[in-house]
Amino acid sequence: MRSILITGGNGGLGLAIGRYFLNHDPEARVWLGVRTKRNQAAILAEAHAARCHLLDLEVTDPAAWQSAVAQILGADGRLDVLVNNAGMHRDCLLAAMPAESWHQVISSNLDSTFHGCRAAVAPMMRQRSGRIINIASLSAILPPLGQTNYAAAKAGVVALSRTLAKEVARSGITVNSILPGYIETEALGAMDDETRKQAQRGIPMRRFGKPAEVAAAVYFLASPDAAYITGAALKIDGGIF
Ligand code: NDP
Repeated sequence: MRSILITGGNGGLGLAIGRYFLNHDPEARVWLGVRTKRNQAAILAEAHAARCHLLDLEVTDPAAWQSAVAQILGADGRLDVLVNNAGMHRDCLLAAMPAESWHQVISSNLDSTFHGCRAAVAPMMRQRSGRIINIASLSAILPPLGQTNYAAAKAGVVALSRTLAKEVARSGITVNSILPGYIETEALGAMDDETRKQAQRGIPMRRFGKPAEVAAAVYFLASPDAAYITGAALKIDGGIF
């Protein structure tokens, strides 16, 4: 049995990652962290009743992390994989950016990753094994205008991952980050047709990625075959440089 916690379980990527583990690993027990009981995650949990569970997890709240991890350890006795996937953006040029947008984006993307890693590392160190995969963004290295908050948060996620990778390398724990480019989820829902076409013209493969294409990479990084990969930052973006 492998116990897997994925945050942002109601979102497009979180659901795809959960589904991927459930479909490819019959031994996987998937915990989907959600802050609202929206139907998407609930439907997946119902379809895999014995192996998939919803967990209340507001990722900016350290106490919520402690109780979520305690619940998993109580049920499974271990935590093998943490996927810090929850996140959001509030784009705005810096000159006009309300301080609240700055703090909200830093908190939901970067503080959340800190709280999650800290909560997961203790049981993983006791087990002397674990896999942490942090979902950053291509914006961490190629930021578009209007994302000072999001780019700073996601660059922080990459730096946190690389540093933590060194700290826990001798405890059998790997820590990697993934930098998706444009992936077809609700997060891209606000784009009009012309903006979509323009964005696709900037991608060498001329298409957006599918959530399952990110999920496959997460699954690999969580596998025994990826035991020697740590501190990596993997771009998944159809070839944008
Ligand atoms: P979605 O907006 O579809 O999903 C994001 C999920 O994160 C939602 O379920 C949301 O919860 C949850 N979430 C946000 N803030 C919190 C919080 N404070 N506590 C608990 N849950 C929270 O986006 P994606 O699935 O596309 O994105 C997943 C990750 O991938 C994010 O980190 C995003 O930044 C990153 N990413 C996505 C890209 C894309 O093109 N789609 C590109 C690059 C990176 P709720 O449902 O309650 O709102």
